Amino acid sequence: MKAAVFHSAGMPLSIEEVPDPIPRLTEILLQVKACGICGTDLHMSENVNPDGGWRLLKPGCILGHEFSGEIVEVGKDVSKDWQIGDRVTALPWIGCGDCYVCKIGRPYRCDLAMMRGSLELPGAYSEFCRIGSSEVIRLPDEVSHSLGALIEPLAVGFSAVRRAEISGDETILIIGSGPVGLSITMWCQFYGVKHILISDLVESRARAALNLGADSMIIPKQGNEIEEIYDCVGELPSVIFDCVGALGSMQMAIDYILPGGKVIVVGLCMEKDYYFPAKALLKEVDIRFSYVYCHDDFKLVADLLKRNQINPRSLVSQTINLLELPKVFEDLKVSSEQLKVMLNFGSL
Ligand SMILES: [Zn+2]
Ligand SMILES: [Zn+2]
Repeated sequence: MKAAVFHSAGMPLSIEEVPDPIPRLTEILLQVKACGICGTDLHMSENVNPDGGWRLLKPGCILGHEFSGEIVEVGKDVSKDWQIGDRVTALPWIGCGDCYVCKIGRPYRCDLAMMRGSLELPGAYSEFCRIGSSEVIRLPDEVSHSLGALIEPLAVGFSAVRRAEISGDETILIIGSGPVGLSITMWCQFYGVKHILISDLVESRARAALNLGADSMIIPKQGNEIEEIYDCVGELPSVIFDCVGALGSMQMAIDYILPGGKVIVVGLCMEKDYYFPAKALLKEVDIRFSYVYCHDDFKLVADLLKRNQINPRSLVSQTINLLELPKVFEDLKVSSEQLKVMLNFGSL
């Protein structure tokens, strides 16, 4: 099969012919139909710091963890519920399936989990990939493959909003209008809050958030953001989502938050950052980190898509084929106009 293969940090992915994957007894083989390009993959492909809290990629690995596809082969020990031709998505990891965290649908905490993008579990920037039978989720007929591949980033946003325990009365600031910030915008609107303010250095991306439910936006270039926040909302935000994960963005969130408010860190910062703890202490800020979703979150998002309760289509800013991926992947490392780029296998 064809796949986009990673060789080393700083080198573009390369399209190569690699052996077809063979599913193990409890696994399913998927013909990939769509796969989103994720900022995490971009970060990982450039990461050279083994102390940054994220594993280093091995040469020869294949990335891509936001996918959907059609089942083409089913392992011998997989339940008869799953058949060739079924349209599905899956949580990216494959856990042992037997331990407590696997049973509650959080395989990424399993000691034995295989990580997507590793050599033992290649990702979906490829024509086929293996998924776990404990991690698979059926796509409703109404949900296209492209929407199915959005379930993962939507679930990231959903679980971050759940971490914030919003009640509806909050003024929300979302720092960063990339796919995660946009997904969070959509969920805050879905749950209903007093005001959603988005902040992004790139105006076109901030505007995209207005389409997904943000009430106002700021483009923080002048250094007078607190004034701008007051101008837009009339008060400091009681919940801030840091979707940037850049050096200093957590301190920024602490500076902007209303005393007693919550800062939810979703952005992935792989470098050592620092903040002034006293500033957070004086405000009694509740700082929470949010990583990913559980199995039920995927099911809920799929169900809401089926019932047209959410419409994330405007998240996708470009659709490409596998041959175009290496160049687009490099462009995304510097370009800032794009939202979610979707890899589509229809044309291969
Ligand atoms: Zn992702
Ligand atoms: Zn397990």
